[in-house]
Amino acid sequence: MESFKYNPQSSVADEFICHDEILASLQFAEAHKNDEALLAQILAKAKEEKGLSHREALVLLASDNAATNQQIEALAKKIKLDFYGNRIVLFAPLYLSNYCVNGCTYCPYHAINKHMPRKKMTQDEIKEEVIALQDMGHKRLALELGEHPTMNPLEYVLESIDTIYNIKHKNGAIRRVNVNIAATDEASFAKLKDAGIGTYILFQETYNRQRYEALHPTGPKHDYNRQTEAMDRAMRGGIDDVGIGVLFGLSTYLYEFTALLMHVEHLKAVFGVGPHTISVPRLRPADGINPEQFADCISDDIFVKIVACLRIAVPTAGMIISTRESKETRERVLQLGISQISGGSKTSVGGYSQAHAENSDSAQFDVCDNRTLDEVVYWLLGNGHIPSFCTACYRKHRTGEAFMKLCANKSIHHFCHPNALLSLQEYLTDYASPATKALGEKVIAAEVAKLPPQSAKFVLQHLQDIKNGNDRDFYL
Ligand code: SAM
Repeated sequence: MESFKYNPQSSVADEFICHDEILASLQFAEAHKNDEALLAQILAKAKEEKGLSHREALVLLASDNAATNQQIEALAKKIKLDFYGNRIVLFAPLYLSNYCVNGCTYCPYHAINKHMPRKKMTQDEIKEEVIALQDMGHKRLALELGEHPTMNPLEYVLESIDTIYNIKHKNGAIRRVNVNIAATDEASFAKLKDAGIGTYILFQETYNRQRYEALHPTGPKHDYNRQTEAMDRAMRGGIDDVGIGVLFGLSTYLYEFTALLMHVEHLKAVFGVGPHTISVPRLRPADGINPEQFADCISDDIFVKIVACLRIAVPTAGMIISTRESKETRERVLQLGISQISGGSKTSVGGYSQAHAENSDSAQFDVCDNRTLDEVVYWLLGNGHIPSFCTACYRKHRTGEAFMKLCANKSIHHFCHPNALLSLQEYLTDYASPATKALGEKVIAAEVAKLPPQSAKFVLQHLQDIKNGNDRDFYL
């Protein structure tokens, strides 16, 4: 592999995700992973809650020192509460089309899979899906599509976003659409921004160039630079909330973890702001895909530790976990830093509406947590979390640097907590089962009692408005 000089400010993929720097960091971590003085020094820095460098965080992740691990967990829990409180934002993925020209060997949508039924929803079908999602109580979606220049052009994505934002069914509304589509050019990112998207999400899959090229043998996604430099183009196109992640299981986790943090450092160095979110997907079984074919699957314990170390290394980034994980694993990581989860998800095209229930054979991967949204909300409430359907920040222009400033000085709670409670009340009044409603209202009353008087007044007044059916969508 050609040698590049590490430079977080460079816009060249191999310079900001520098293979040699990753290898040097791995060597350093291996040599120092049980160096108690260094571990204590890194933990002391982490306690300042301003984050860690990729090397520092890697030493923590690599360490198998039990006392260090306990401290990492305790600190991750504290940082989660300090920056994101006990709120958990809920969302659902919406698959619009599984036509794809790429050859990703781990994804059943790859072009060579000839028996996968291909589907692309019409605008009317999208309406049915969105109504089904609204009737579950969802307010926030992540759009998912395969890459196909003629079947899924940008115009189709833009038209679909417009359709989704304009569907008003009963008290339902989708108020934030995040988008997870293939890496594109700056002009297209600018159009997505104009369409009113929230976050642009793109998983790197693997940061290891050699592994990346082998796992993506054909199609435009084969281009490692196009993928790795995508967030720079998105930011230059005006999207200031970007979501990064790797698909754990495709390559060695210590390598991926280091590179992911180098990506964060790069975005901060060039754009002054890190990623809005970090996702931690793990490879799942899918049509013709057995994760065990891939040598680098990780255990639950390592997965949990990765989440905790990311939380400590980047305190301000939201962290997302999907229904790829089981209820039990989700329960463990929720405490350690996750701030957003999906619930009641379907990974097939047309999976939500009755009319398309037969479409599960177009699923991208097997969902591990199959509970309904109501079951997820009840479970969150019972575990001390506040399920939030809030979508206020980007509608109030609290995006990019503006959001990160409020998050970094721990004042985002003043907005997020009242908003979370009001959006939860909407869910309870309009969609919840009697048991969830009873538990939720008890939890809301207890949380309102902890708010400062001004916020409590605002929340109490609008809780009543929602219960009376007067209006919806109150936020600060
Ligand atoms: N087509 C878009 C792209 O190329 O980035 C992304 C959309 S795809 C629906 C979303 C993500 O699903 C991928 O980025 C990949 O990380 C993940 N994925 C693919 N196959 C998977 C599998 N077998 N198990 C878990 N996640 C998978």
